[in-house]
Amino acid sequence: MKIYADYHTHSEYSHGRGSILGNLRAAQRRGLKAVAITDHGPATAFGMGVPDEKTLLKIKDRLRALAPQFPGLRILAGVEANVVSLDGDLDVSDEVLGQLDIVLAGLHPSVYARTIRDAAWLIGLNALSRHLKEVRRLARILNTRALIRAVERHRIDIVTHPGWKLSIDTRALASVCALRGTALEINAAHGYLTREFVRVAAAEGVRFAIGSDAHTPARVGNLEAGVAVAEQLGLRPDQIINAEVP
Ligand SMILES: [Zn+2]
Ligand SMILES: [Zn+2]
Repeated sequence: MKIYADYHTHSEYSHGRGSILGNLRAAQRRGLKAVAITDHGPATAFGMGVPDEKTLLKIKDRLRALAPQFPGLRILAGVEANVVSLDGDLDVSDEVLGQLDIVLAGLHPSVYARTIRDAAWLIGLNALSRHLKEVRRLARILNTRALIRAVERHRIDIVTHPGWKLSIDTRALASVCALRGTALEINAAHGYLTREFVRVAAAEGVRFAIGSDAHTPARVGNLEAGVAVAEQLGLRPDQIINAEVP
């Protein structure tokens, strides 16, 4: 399987450790045909996201200015937005999302939730669920609901690392994503990645994106772990949005 694009990379604009120029150079060196800069949305806690959503448009301007140096490389300005409420609100406005080339969104445990109630679910309930079996089922239902609402309400191209740290019902999410044309990520960076998640999701007819989740230029295009899972499960290239279809 040949993957021609890495749609999930971070830079120093959020908590990545390389410049966007570094990511573009790495993508070119790797022979990728497309790369996206998808820094963390502003609600990421501890200053690990972009300072505000306007920064995403600044990154886009810089990418457009750098593009002539990279002929043959499609450069996409994007974001990895955070789901910040039970109702699927994101930490980037639809107005800004509409100006980006690609929108990734994911559930992260360390974010500034929209309201106290949302924080009680996202942070409190999920923390408790690691220790209390009784809470686990409820957390899973609410996590799934929030992600599904986000996919229904916003134009999301890829849901990142579904199930990482926060438990979800893969089947339910995948069936909605299949209808909406939203891809689920096979994340090549996090060790949690299970074949079971991909198998269950694929049965719902959803498509996948293999992403590096690179936080340094050296990891841009590092997709082997994701490709291995896709191949082990016998996925076809047309089931993966960034695979070359022969
Ligand atoms: Zn990160
Ligand atoms: Zn993420």
